[in-house]
Amino acid sequence: MAQLSLQHLDKIYDNKVQAVYDFNIDIEQGEFIVLVGPSGCGKSTTLRMIAGLEDISKGHLILDGKDITTLPPKDRDMAMVFQNYALYGHMTIYENMAFSLTLRKEDPNIIHKKVLAAAEILDLTSQLNKKPNQLSGGQRQRVAMGRAIVRNPKLFLFDEPLSNLDAKLRGSTRREIMLLHKRLGATMLYVTHDQTEALTLADRIVCMSMGHVQQIGTPLELYDNPANLFVASFIGLPPMNFFEVLVSGDKLIGPHFEAEMNPEQKDLLASYQGKHITLGVRPENIAEGGTIPVKVSKNENLGMNTLVHGHIDGTAAEGKIVCKFRGWCDYKDGDIAMVSFKKMHFFDKETTNAITREAQV
Ligand code: ADP
Repeated sequence: MAQLSLQHLDKIYDNKVQAVYDFNIDIEQGEFIVLVGPSGCGKSTTLRMIAGLEDISKGHLILDGKDITTLPPKDRDMAMVFQNYALYGHMTIYENMAFSLTLRKEDPNIIHKKVLAAAEILDLTSQLNKKPNQLSGGQRQRVAMGRAIVRNPKLFLFDEPLSNLDAKLRGSTRREIMLLHKRLGATMLYVTHDQTEALTLADRIVCMSMGHVQQIGTPLELYDNPANLFVASFIGLPPMNFFEVLVSGDKLIGPHFEAEMNPEQKDLLASYQGKHITLGVRPENIAEGGTIPVKVSKNENLGMNTLVHGHIDGTAAEGKIVCKFRGWCDYKDGDIAMVSFKKMHFFDKETTNAITREAQV
């Protein structure tokens, strides 16, 4: 049985704004779930409903088989880590980490053991006598996690915990959270607008847009088989390129280019012959050499790769394209790079859903 089930959760705020529509997921014990989507899509609202900080307008929340839809936050056995750490400035790191246990009047010996164990896991042992303002942002975020760990909760909830850290610290703290998850084996729910965090941290990602769940799946499923145009454009960086193309015989005819289909792709698109679809191609699935002419406007060397920005030669805005080539390239503005598409994604223009074999059965 799932540890946490969200069953048809809706959130309608008092001002009639509906922030979440019919959210369903079964989360297993030990899973790391990341809710990802642009600002305002309903991620925090969902997390706050789970924590009990917002009322659930409709639906049910089941934790370990028990309906907790209306249970007060303090009885839910969950610990939340926020982006602004929310540490007490006048208390030491030790006191901050011990605070919730002291409040619950736990045995001081047990509190001491739990704080030391959490400090050890988080490499904070030498910081315990300091005040929060003597610590770096990354260390403060680890203290916030320590406060959650000492409570040994059924569920960890993270609300954009890395967004106040600079880029380098974000990377290292992200890796610490991954290790923490492995070490504790705890169930974690993590909210972020950053697709990189979602891809690197999640066992499963829930991608949201405008209050609606768009797709739930492993990082690879969302990357390789995005369910619709929204997920395709949100997951992956730089984002997928999109072109409107005509399906014609074994060719896709785009603005000033043609791409060949293999028999399998032709078969997949059989019912779209003579119609327009949206073709999606990830920058990293474009290779040098081929028949598609890209007029270069910018050559960005990243070391291992080169991002080549431009447009399909002969087109204007609709032919914009970003290619990610291996190694170091030296294209100049105005050069023509001849390219080919190594992997293509197809989307229905009307529904914006991915065209898949399953959808046609
Ligand atoms: P996210 O976490 O994805 O950025 P939120 O869950 O914070 O999104 O917000 C989802 C939607 O709900 C937004 O349109 C936001 O303006 C609205 N919203 C959030 N909190 C409230 C509130 N307390 N009252 C009314 N509307 C709110």
